[in-house]
Amino acid sequence: MNAQPAPVSWHERARSLSFQTKAFIDGRYVDAVSGATFDSINPATGKLLARVASGDAEDIDRAVQAARTAFGKGAWAQFHPAKRKKILLRFAELIIKHGDELALLETLDMGKPISDSLKVDIPAVARCLQWYAEAIDKVYDEVAPTGPKALALITREPMGVVGAIVPWNYPLLMAAWKIAPILASGNSLVLKPSEKSPLTALKVAALAVDAGVPPGVFNVVPGLGQTAGKALALHMDVDCIAFTGSTATGKQIMQYAGQSNLKRVSLECGGKSPNIVLADYPDIERVAQAAAAAIYSNQGEMCSAGSRLLLQEGIKEAVLEKVQAISRALVPGDPLNPETELGAIVDETQMKRVLGYIDAGRGAGARVRVGGRRVREESGGYFIEPTVFDEVKPGMSIAREEIFGPVLSAITFRTVDEAIEIANDVVYGLAAAVWTRDITTAHRVARALRAGTVYVNCYDADDLTVPFGGFKQSGIGRDKSLHALEKYTELKSTWIDLT
Ligand code: NAD
Repeated sequence: MNAQPAPVSWHERARSLSFQTKAFIDGRYVDAVSGATFDSINPATGKLLARVASGDAEDIDRAVQAARTAFGKGAWAQFHPAKRKKILLRFAELIIKHGDELALLETLDMGKPISDSLKVDIPAVARCLQWYAEAIDKVYDEVAPTGPKALALITREPMGVVGAIVPWNYPLLMAAWKIAPILASGNSLVLKPSEKSPLTALKVAALAVDAGVPPGVFNVVPGLGQTAGKALALHMDVDCIAFTGSTATGKQIMQYAGQSNLKRVSLECGGKSPNIVLADYPDIERVAQAAAAAIYSNQGEMCSAGSRLLLQEGIKEAVLEKVQAISRALVPGDPLNPETELGAIVDETQMKRVLGYIDAGRGAGARVRVGGRRVREESGGYFIEPTVFDEVKPGMSIAREEIFGPVLSAITFRTVDEAIEIANDVVYGLAAAVWTRDITTAHRVARALRAGTVYVNCYDADDLTVPFGGFKQSGIGRDKSLHALEKYTELKSTWIDLT
C-alpha cells in the first residue's frame, strides 16, 4: 500500500505565496501614481508581509474615470442579463478554484484562523456572487395601475459608478456583500479595501476580469482612509458610496457626500448588541455555548458580536459559570494551525484599544471573571485572551462602546421591561437576541428591540436571503437579500400616453 504524502503545512505554503500589491485600474495592475506604499503586517507575528501601493486622490480619479468610461460605453450595464449572470457565476467558480490561496492571504493579512478563512469566509464569498448572479435574470420591474389611458413603467436602473469602502474584519466577505449586488445591477465599481487587509481584494480583481468582467468595470484602489477613502467619497463623479466600517467614519462619509455631489450613501456601521437571557429558558448549556460563540467568533471582531450578555437574576450564575469555562478552554493560537479557533487581533493599534477597554472596565469597578490579558507575546503577534466581565453597569464604557475584541460584558436585570430598556439604551441598533420559551414574550421583546436583526433562541443565524443592517447609528440601508439591489439602482418612472 502506498503511503499518503504528508499534507503541506500552511506555513510552508505561506513561504511560497506571492502577493499582489498594486492597484487594479482599468483591467491592469499599476503602482500608485505617487509611488507611495504602506506596510501590510502579519498580525500573528508583527512582521512585514508586503508593501502595498498607497493610492491617493489621483489614483482614485483614474479608477473613477475608468469606471465611468466603462459605464458610458455600456460595457457590462448593457449586457444581456443572462450574460452578466454567466460571467458572475464564472467569477464565483474562480474564487472557489483559488480558495486555498485566498484563505491563506486572508489569514496572513488579518489574523483569523485558517480554518475560518477556508471553511467560512471564502465559500461565503463565492456563494454571495452566485446568489446575486442567479438573481440577475429573475428580478422583474413594475407596471403601475394607472388605468387604460396611460402606461407607467417603474424600472430600476444602475446608479453608474459606485464606490465601495470596506473594513478588515471579514475583508473579502464584506467586499463581496458589496461587489455582488453592485455588479449584478449593472454598475461599475471602485473598491477601497481596508489598509489593514488589502491582499485578497487585490487578488480577486484580476479574477473578475479573467471571468469576463470588462476592464474598467471593477477597479480596486488600496490606500489609507484619510487619503484614498476620503477622495472616493468626495469624488464628484461617483454616484453612490457603499460603506462598511465604524460609525465615526460613516458619519464622515455622509459629510463628504454633502460637501460634494450628494451621492447616495449606504452605511453598515458598528454595534453593541445585547444578548438577553430570560430565566425561563431551560437549556443553560446551549445558551452558554451560543453566548460564547457570539462574542468570540472572529476574535470578537464582528459588527454583530453579542458583546452585552443580559442575564435575568436567578440564572445569572449558572450561565456565567458555563461561559467562564468555555472561555478558559478557548486559547488563542497560531492562525495557520488548522486546529486554532481564536486567532490574532488585526494589529497593534486594535490590540491596544481592546486592552484599554479592559483597563477601563476594571477601573470602573467591573469584575474580570476570566481572561483580561495579552498572550503569546513572544510570537511578536497581537493576541488577547477571551475575557468576561461581571458586575457591569449599563453606564460603563464597556457596556456602551464597541470594543471589537473578545470581551464580554455581563449585565444583570430583574424584569423583562428592564432588559428591553437596557438593551435599547445605546446609540447602536445592529443586532439583538432574546432567549425564552414563552412565545408571547419572545414576540413582545423582539418587537421592542430597536435592532436591524433580532434572534430568538439563537444567535447569528445567517442566510443570504435575509437582509442585514442596522437601526440608529448602526447604519443606513441593508446588505444581502434582494433589498441590497435597491441601494445600487435608481427608480425611474416612465409615462406613456395611450390615448
Ligand atoms: P473604519 O471606519 O476605521 O474603516 C473602514 C473603512 O473606511 C476602511 O477602508 C478605511 O480605510 C476607511 N476610512 C477610514 N477613514 C476614512 C475617511 N475619513 N474617509 C473615507 N474612508 C475612510 O472601520 P474598521 O476599523 O476598518 O472596521 C471596523 C468597524 O466596521 C466596526 O465598527 C464594525 O462594527 C464595522 N463593521 C460593520 C459591519 C456591518 O455590516 N454593519 C460589518 C463589518 C464591520
